[in-house]
Amino acid sequence: MGDDERTALEPDELEPDELGGDAACWLGSVCADCGAMIEGPPGTACWRCGGTHREGD
Ligand SMILES: [Zn+2]
Repeated sequence: MGDDERTALEPDELEPDELGGDAACWLGSVCADCGAMIEGPPGTACWRCGGTHREGD
């Protein structure tokens, strides 16, 4: 009695892999123009030189 709050589970915490999987595949892209590491989805402009070309493109 009084412990009902302990049984309330957040359904969002059951599948943490859904959030981490996609992020890892586009981390560490290297800018083909200046060599800076670009963090973000494909097409994200380089934070240093503003270019969108990456190593491997
Ligand atoms: Zn760059």
